[in-house]
Amino acid sequence: MKPKIWMSSPHMSGNEQSFVNEAFDTNWVAPLGPNVNGFETDLQSYLNEDRHVAALASGTSALHLSLILLDVSYGDEVICQSKTFSASANPIVYQGATPIFVDSEKETWNMCPVQLEIAIKDRIAKGKKPKAIISVHLYGMPYKVDEIHKVAKSFDIPIIEDSAESLGSHYKGQNCGTFGDLSILSFNGNKIITTSGGGALVTRTKSHKDKAVFLATQARDNAPHYQHSHIGYNYRMSNIVAGIGRGQMTILDSHVANRRANHELYKSHFEAVKGVEFLKEPDGHFSNRWLSCIMLDSMKTREELRFAFEKENIESRPLWKPMHQQPIFKDAPSYLNGVSDELFERGLCLPSGSNLTKDELDRVISVINMYFAVC
Ligand SMILES: *Cc1c(COP(=O)(O)O)cnc(C)c1O
Repeated sequence: MKPKIWMSSPHMSGNEQSFVNEAFDTNWVAPLGPNVNGFETDLQSYLNEDRHVAALASGTSALHLSLILLDVSYGDEVICQSKTFSASANPIVYQGATPIFVDSEKETWNMCPVQLEIAIKDRIAKGKKPKAIISVHLYGMPYKVDEIHKVAKSFDIPIIEDSAESLGSHYKGQNCGTFGDLSILSFNGNKIITTSGGGALVTRTKSHKDKAVFLATQARDNAPHYQHSHIGYNYRMSNIVAGIGRGQMTILDSHVANRRANHELYKSHFEAVKGVEFLKEPDGHFSNRWLSCIMLDSMKTREELRFAFEKENIESRPLWKPMHQQPIFKDAPSYLNGVSDELFERGLCLPSGSNLTKDELDRVISVINMYFAVC
C-alpha cells in the first residue's frame, strides 16, 4: 500500500518546540502564562490592532461564549449558515435556543443574503426576531461581507463571524476574523494553523474579551476564597498549546501561499477538463484556499472519483453536508434555495495541506488524469 495522503494535516514550522520547552522550563504548565498572552498578541497584530483576542480551548467554545456574550438563551432563535460544519450550529442548542438554517449562494458557497432577508422577515412575522446570525467563510472563501452585514444591520441583529477555516483570508483588504460583532478562529489539527486543538474569540471591545476570559476560567468573582455569581466554563487555552500557536504564527502566511499554490496547480491541470469546476474568487475576495474543492458533473462521477482516490490511499471527502439535511437538525426551520444540496451532491474536497510534496501532488493529479481518460 502506498503511504497515505491526507486532506489537511498538521504542518509545524520547527519553532513550536522552543516555546513549548520554555513553558516546561519555567513551569507554566497551566491554562495561563506567557505563551497564552504572547499568542493572543501575535493574533491581534496579525488581524488588527484594534481587536482583542481571547485564546480558548476550541473554536466551538469560542462560538458558545459568543452566544452567551450576546445573551442568547432558552427559547431564542439564532440564524446559522446551513452549509457548514456542525460545530457552527451545536452551541446554539447548548444555550437552549433554536437554530434557523439559511442556504448558500453560488459565488462563494456561503450564506445567501437574499435567503437571509427572507428568513429574518419570516421569523419576525412568526413572532420572534432572531437574536444573532452565524455566518461562515467556508473553506477559506470570504462570504459576501457587504451584502450579509447590510441585511443584518437593517434589522439590527449582531453577527458572529465563524472564521474557523479562514485565518489568512481577506475581503476588500480587511482580514477575515475581524468582521463580526464577535468572531471566532479554530486551531484544530486540520486547520490552516494548528495548536493540536484550540480556538480564539476576537472581540471589538476589551470588556467583551474580559468577560469571555472570566467565563472561560470558571467565572470566579474577585475574592480570596472561591466565590461565584455566574455559571462558568473551563474553556481557556493551555500555555503549552499556546506555545505551539506562537510557533505556527511564524509561518501562517507561507501556509496560505502553499495552499493557494495547490489550488492553482489543480486548476491548471483540470480547468480544461469538461465537468470539473472550481470556485473562483469574486472581486475583492482573497481565500486562503484552506481546502481545494472541485464540483463534478454528477454525484456518480464524484463518488467514482472518491473511490479511485481511496484505492490509491488518498483521502478526499464530499463537501459539508448541509445542517438542514442532518438527522439531528431535521425539525429546525430552514430557508432553502437548493444551492447547498447541490454542492453536497457533486462537490469533492481534494488533498490541500501546506506540507504536500511534489510527489504527493503528482499522485493526486494522476488519479484524476486516469479517471477522466478512461471515461
Ligand atoms: C473547525 C470548525 C469549527 C470548530 O472549531 P474547533 O476548534 O474544532 O472546535 C467551527 N466552525 C467551522 C466552520 C469549522 O470548520
